[in-house]
Amino acid sequence: MSAQLIDGKAIAAEVRARVAAGVARLAARSGVVPGLTVILVGEDPASEVYVRTKVTQTAAAGMRGAVLRLPAETTEAELLATVARLNADPAVHGILVQFPLPAHLDVARVVEAIAPEKDVDGFNPLNVGRTAAGLREAIVPCTPLGVLHLIKTVRVDLGGLSALVVGASNVVGRPMARLLLGEHCTVSIAHVRTTDLPERARAADVLVVATGVPGLVRGDWLKPGATVIDVGITRAATPEGKVRLVGDVAFDEAVQVAGALTPVPGGVGPMTVAYLLSNTLDAAERAVSRR
Ligand code: NAD
Repeated sequence: MSAQLIDGKAIAAEVRARVAAGVARLAARSGVVPGLTVILVGEDPASEVYVRTKVTQTAAAGMRGAVLRLPAETTEAELLATVARLNADPAVHGILVQFPLPAHLDVARVVEAIAPEKDVDGFNPLNVGRTAAGLREAIVPCTPLGVLHLIKTVRVDLGGLSALVVGASNVVGRPMARLLLGEHCTVSIAHVRTTDLPERARAADVLVVATGVPGLVRGDWLKPGATVIDVGITRAATPEGKVRLVGDVAFDEAVQVAGALTPVPGGVGPMTVAYLLSNTLDAAERAVSRR
């Protein structure tokens, strides 16, 4: 048996096309062009790549994308003042602070300072609470939104399925579990201290893995026919000295057992950026309807 590959790259392109059409409609109706500003503090090379992708795709969807680069020694007061200025700017509908931040900056305080209606990453406590409660006004984190979309391309009705989310971070695992619960799955969350992980994984119809541990999930951990989504991205060196991206699932084994599976790269990654654009469009539409 060989699993169906879930082509995140192609599906993300569809999401971006839908967003671009929505942007054009909003601009025609209201004159408003959605704007996303990314704040980048310091010079993390991986963050540079992510930010460039986000801004390029924002522009390609017809939105205004900007990067505010701040030096690594920026104080918390300066960063909070920048966020406050963007909160008050009506041309900015989405604000994203790129992580990781330099160690002297308090992530929680920065996230709390972003106006909830512009918090397109969905990390502000108000959006976390709204996501947990399944409220419509919630801005839901981009990666779990993208993952749910991928799952729905192969599973029409998730109701009653057994779902396991491996990884319990605020960015991926926890909001992912809440979304799957919202789809009426029976959901468990596993983490680094879970003792019987292979056994739990074997019971899952839907398995989402977000740990950052390359190859953690083996083929014989899977229920035959399961839908398996690999969120993990780790940069690994090849014998030729190149860098390649590897996921948390042992792909060559899993593809023999799963019903459907995402590759790394080309699975979840492109969906995360596509849903960032989607969240920004939604934020702009809500801003227009509040006028
Ligand atoms: P994190 O480090 O914040 O959390 C990792 C979670 O995995 C923790 O809950 C931890 O308990 C759990 N874990 C670690 N080792 C484990 C093990 N051996 N068994 C079971 N659970 C274990 O990470 P994160 O921010 O949630 O990211 C997870 C992975 O997903 C990383 O590889 C990251 O690069 C990737 N990621 C990808 C995207 C994307 O767009 N594709 C987005 C966000 C994160």
